[in-house]
Amino acid sequence: MSECSKIPYASRWIALVAMRAIARSRVTRGLTGPRGTYFCTPCRCWHLTSKARLQTPPWLNG
Ligand SMILES: [Zn+2]
Repeated sequence: MSECSKIPYASRWIALVAMRAIARSRVTRGLTGPRGTYFCTPCRCWHLTSKARLQTPPWLNG
């Protein structure tokens, strides 16, 4: 049972890899991609967020 509708990722690293792929595909379409990861306590998994709180993805610089 998932507490939310977001895609759960087992680890921060897996979420980061997924975020990079999703962000890249969305940016090429002129859309806003995910910019950060956060740990979801109810899910006990990692999710992606469009709010860049912790760090700026290096691939979005420049
Ligand atoms: Zn969750």
